[in-house]
This record gives sequence, C-alpha cells and structure tokens, in this order.
Amino acid sequence: MATLVIQTAFLGDVVLTTPLLSALAALHGPVDVVTTPVAAPLLETHPAVRTVIPYDKRGTDGGWGGMRTLARRLKGEGYARAYLPHRSLRTAALAFLARIPTRIGFAGGWSFLYTEARPKPRTGHETVRLMALADGASGVYPPQLRATPEDAEAAARLIEGPFVAIAPGSIWGSKRWPHYAQLAAQLGEHVAVVVVGGKDDVELGDQIVSAVEPSGRPAVNACGRLTLRESAALIWRANALVTNDSAPLHLATAMGTPVVALFGPTVTELGFGPVRAGDVALGIDGLQCRPCSSHGPPRCPLGHHRCMRELTVPAVFAAIEGLGALRRRD
Ligand code: SF4
Repeated sequence: MATLVIQTAFLGDVVLTTPLLSALAALHGPVDVVTTPVAAPLLETHPAVRTVIPYDKRGTDGGWGGMRTLARRLKGEGYARAYLPHRSLRTAALAFLARIPTRIGFAGGWSFLYTEARPKPRTGHETVRLMALADGASGVYPPQLRATPEDAEAAARLIEGPFVAIAPGSIWGSKRWPHYAQLAAQLGEHVAVVVVGGKDDVELGDQIVSAVEPSGRPAVNACGRLTLRESAALIWRANALVTNDSAPLHLATAMGTPVVALFGPTVTELGFGPVRAGDVALGIDGLQCRPCSSHGPPRCPLGHHRCMRELTVPAVFAAIEGLGALRRRD
C-alpha cells in the first residue's frame, strides 16, 4: 500500500524535504506527494516521487470545500500511511479527513489529529530535523533536484559561457540585500551576470542588468522568463549563485551550484543556511537585533535595516571570488 507525504509549505521548505522523501522511498517505495502548484514541477522529476498531487490551497482548492474534495480523492487512493512534515491545521485535517490509518508528524499544534507524533529536534539543519520522521532510514543528502533536457535547453538559450547568477528577490522585504546592483557592476568587470527570479523581480533585475552594461560584459535578466525547473537548470549552469536567505539558496544546493547566501534579519542557526562544505553564509555579527524573526519581517521594525545595509559589496565580492566563481567553470 502506498505512502503519502503532505508538504504544502513554502517552496524552499519543499526542496528541503527531498532528503526525507528519498529516505521514505527507501523504506516504502516511491511516495506520492501533495504539494503546492508552484513546487509541483520540481517534484515531478524526483526519483523518490511516484505521483505529485498539486493542492492550490490559496486558490482553486481553497477553503473547506477544496480540502474535502482533495480528502475524498486521497481516501480513494487507499494510502497506508501519511507523513506530515509541515505542522499546520490544514495538513493535519487533510490526512485525518482522508482516513489514512497511520499519520505521522511532529508533536505540537494539531498533532492530536495524528496517530503518531514525534518530537522535532530544536537544533540542526532543517533537512536533518525533518529526517526525524524517517524511522532511521537515510535519504539522498544534501537535497537534489533534476531538470529535464528540455529545461536545460531553455536555460542554455538565455546565455552562453560562464556566469555568476544573482537571485535578489524575497517575499519578505527585510531579507532583500539592497546592494545587488553595485555588486553586479563589480562582477561585470570579470564575468557575465544573470539575474534569476520570478515576475515580481523583473524591475529589480532590470536595474541590476543596467549596472553591468558599462562593463560591456553580457548581462541577462531572466526574471519571469523561465519556469521554475528551467530556472533550476539555469542555476545549475552558473559558476555560483548569490542570494538572500530564500528559496534560490536551496535550489542552488539541490542543483550542486556553489552558493554565497546573505543573511540579514535571520541567522543560519535557525536551520535554513547552506548545508555543503565550501558554501558561504554572510551576515553582520554582533548586531543585537539579529535575528528579529524566524522568516524576516516585511520591513525592518527598527527602521535602519543595518543587518543588510552594512553587509558590504567588497565582502560579498570577496566571498564570490573565494569560491573561484570568477574563473571559468568546466
Ligand atoms: S531589526 Fe535588526 S535584524 Fe531585524 S530587520 Fe532591522 S536591522 Fe535587521
């Protein structure tokens, strides 16, 4: 009988769940996953996943009616067990309404709806904490994702040759580093630059690309022009990715691309930093207000945003140079 995983949290959380998926697949065979429509294409090509079931919880499947409809479908599949790495009422209720006989998740919140609640480790990287649900099985670590040859072709059409990728966006405003354009101008003296992101990042991408123009080096604003998997394929081709503490950090990890990650209102100790040796996390040490929230507020509550403003372009540039990203990557 099949195994279901319900993970409808943010995109980065879904990527960080992939080692758990492969551990569960080692135990029970490839798993079915309920996830967001945004994250679904990333899991469709994952070898631990049998079927992806998109759940548009804030759109077409929203509300009580949408949940009941999906629960009926899941019940019809006759799953033996469900793993619930995301602590939320919606997740707990969905597995409960689907009458899945074994429902395993983390203690706290709505875990009285589970049949088995396990303590979630308070420390360590999130990928490792999630493995507490894996019954001792080990998964493919760190996270890995696969793009298709078509995704790679779409990415290759945008730029040839070596480049450094920049992911300047974040849905949390206080996590956005404000100096990407200055960094890009400096990078442009050495290497081509590609900006990755969604439709909301197009304007920011244009500003960054404009800053590279005086150097004469290629600069491409890929924001909003690629699917998520194509973006992952593009990140795979980059010498390195520079990013905030946001989903592209985890995409780069999963595609094996070196990372320089910039942490402002959050800190790596929260469990969402780089996991590979050699990757770099930068942040301002000794700033008393850090971290000010687990996700990063929309704006700096103190108004000065020192955690990001004082992270300098030379420091970030040196980290990129230290990764060897200004040399050609074979
Ligand atoms: S309060 Fe401190 S950590 Fe939070 S956004 Fe402002 S400067 Fe950054």
